[in-house]
Amino acid sequence: TTESAADAIRRRIRTIPDFPKPGIQFRDITTLLLDPEGLRFAVEQMVASVEGPIDLVAGIEARGFVFAPAVALALGAGVLLVRKDGKLPGATIAEDYALEYGTDRITIHADACTPGARVLLVDDLIATGGTARAAVRLLRKAGATVTQAAFVIDLPDLGGADALRGDGITVRSLVAYE
Ligand code: AMP
Repeated sequence: TTESAADAIRRRIRTIPDFPKPGIQFRDITTLLLDPEGLRFAVEQMVASVEGPIDLVAGIEARGFVFAPAVALALGAGVLLVRKDGKLPGATIAEDYALEYGTDRITIHADACTPGARVLLVDDLIATGGTARAAVRLLRKAGATVTQAAFVIDLPDLGGADALRGDGITVRSLVAYE
């Protein structure tokens, strides 16, 4: 029997229990990245899931930065960095999002995209969707047209992908962990 695409990705992802705190099953993509076939396959699958022309691939710091350039090169797109607060040197716009305790802030350069630029959002994993939804709000505030997002991993029980779909985004992931 031939291995499914999802299984080829899944068996290269390592699960570390209780990281960074008790009760969290950390889905570790570093083992996927170490494997040349795993890396290539993951990028190819993300690229294949995209519909229509894309001008910019927005990667979310930090693990989104690994996949965004590889996907962008294949699509003939540029890369837009969505960074944690305080990292970008130029004039920025910001968006806050709720954490379990407190809030976090992501930023992009205010002039990072021309109005109407077709932007694909990329990250390694979507959980509650707080990060990705804030990134979509931020990119839309900058005038981008954001209708697609691609993740290596979805944790569907946490509802993030469905919430993002409610924001008008076509959400695709390579593997899901219930
Ligand atoms: P969220 O905003 O809840 O969708 O969380 C998504 C962000 O947190 C992504 O950038 C992930 O890299 C990281 N993350 C959340 N949960 C996990 C997990 N169980 N394993 C690995 N990374 C995670």
